[in-house]
Amino acid sequence: MFCPKCGSMNEDTAVHCAQCGAQLQEEAAPATIPDLQVNQAPVYQAPAYKAPQAKPEGYGMGIAAMVLGIVSLVFFCVVWLSIPCAIIGLILGVVAMNKAKVQGVKNAMAVAGLVCSCISLAVLVIWFIWIAIVMSAAGGMAGGMMEEAFEDFFYSLR
Ligand SMILES: [Zn+2]
Repeated sequence: MFCPKCGSMNEDTAVHCAQCGAQLQEEAAPATIPDLQVNQAPVYQAPAYKAPQAKPEGYGMGIAAMVLGIVSLVFFCVVWLSIPCAIIGLILGVVAMNKAKVQGVKNAMAVAGLVCSCISLAVLVIWFIWIAIVMSAAGGMAGGMMEEAFEDFFYSLR
């Protein structure tokens, strides 16, 4: 057959033009089962030309997980923002990774989001423990002045 783009002669079975790389035939729909994809691979006659891979399902979710993970890391002091971001980022990261796993692909974004969210949660936990230690230490050193101050504060609220 002749290439519709550049007009050069190609094998009838050729999927892509040998001259310009234009697509000559509809490619087989991407298989949902990874094993099939592996079996189909040798059928391609022009291994040099690689069709752009479709974005795996859950790709956007992986990006969202990464963004949320980074936001929660950067703004970890802003707990009302960082805690929800880290938790949602963690969940989205896990879901996106599982989707990628089912499709037999890797979703680096989801992994990055998962890692960022985990680090963020770990930092938050350490931060809270540190505050608790400092508070109790300060309370102990001040001989109950902190507790008194808190009691005064809470009484003032009543
Ligand atoms: Zn061509």
